Amino acid sequence: AIRVEKLQKSFGQRRVLDDISFLVYPGQMVALIGPSGSGKSTLLRHLVGLTCASRGGSLVALLGREIQKAGRMRRARRQERCRTGYIFQQFNLVGRLSVLTNVLAGNLGRMPRGRALLGRFNQEEKARALRCLARVGLEELAGQRANTLSGGQQQRVAIARVLMQDADVILADEPIASLDPRSAREVMEILQRIHAEDGRTVVVTLHQVDVARRYCQRAIALKDGRMYFDGAIAELTDERLQDLYQNTDLDEL
Ligand code: ATP
Ligand code: MG
Repeated sequence: AIRVEKLQKSFGQRRVLDDISFLVYPGQMVALIGPSGSGKSTLLRHLVGLTCASRGGSLVALLGREIQKAGRMRRARRQERCRTGYIFQQFNLVGRLSVLTNVLAGNLGRMPRGRALLGRFNQEEKARALRCLARVGLEELAGQRANTLSGGQQQRVAIARVLMQDADVILADEPIASLDPRSAREVMEILQRIHAEDGRTVVVTLHQVDVARRYCQRAIALKDGRMYFDGAIAELTDERLQDLYQNTDLDEL
C-alpha cells in the first residue's frame, strides 16, 4: 500500500530524513517509533503529500500511485486524497460544527468552511455518517458541537471521519499523545478494529513502545532521520530499545 524509496529531506542544511526506504503491505498495522526529533512526523507528512522530498531519487508511492518522484510532488486529485486518511494529535475537528457535520466532511476530502454545510448532504450520506459514528461508539452525540466533547471523544470523531472518507490507508501522528490512559486505550482499540475488520492499512506514530507492542505487529524505528529498525516488533529487544532511546529511562516509554 505504501512504498518509500531513498527518501531524503533537509530543512536548510539540516538533514532530517536520510535514505528512508520501506514497504507497507495492504492491511498491515505498523508502529512508527523513535525518539523526539527523529523525523516521524516529517515522514508521515511525506506519505500524505503535505511535504515535498528534497532529493532527486526519492520516491513515495501510495496505493500504487507515485505521489512524489524525483523531488517533485504530484498533486493528488480529490479521489486519491480521499483514499488516505490523516489523524492528528490535536484531532483537527471544526469545533463550532456538529459532530455529524465533522464526520460528513470526510466525504469532501477537506475541512468544512461554510455554515450551511449539512444541507449539502443527502439522507443516505447522513445515514452512513451515523454508521461511522456508531463504529466509534458515538452515534448519540451526533448533534452535539464538536468542541463540547472530551479529547478522547474528539479523536474518535476524527476516526469516524476517516471511515466516512473510506480511506484505505490511515496515517495517525501521535493520536493518543494528548489523551488520558483510558481514552488512549479506546482510540487504539478502535484503530486496531478498523484495521482487523476492514483490512485498512494503518501507520501510527507512538511515543510509548509498550502501546506499540500491544497493538502493532510491525515497527519501523527512526533514529536521527535514518532507518534504525524495520521488522516484527517482538524482535525489538530491550537492548535495542535502550540504544534507540539513548537517554531515556525505558520505564517511561
Ligand atoms: P516528536 O516525537 O517530538 O514528534 P518527530 O520524530 O515527529 O518528533 P519531526 O517533527 O519529524 O520529529 O522533526 C524532525 C526534525 O526536523 C526535528 O529536528 C525538527 O526540528 C525538524 N523540522 C521539522 N519540521 C521542520 C520545518 N518545517 N523546518 C525546519 N525544521 C523542521
Ligand atoms: Mg512528531
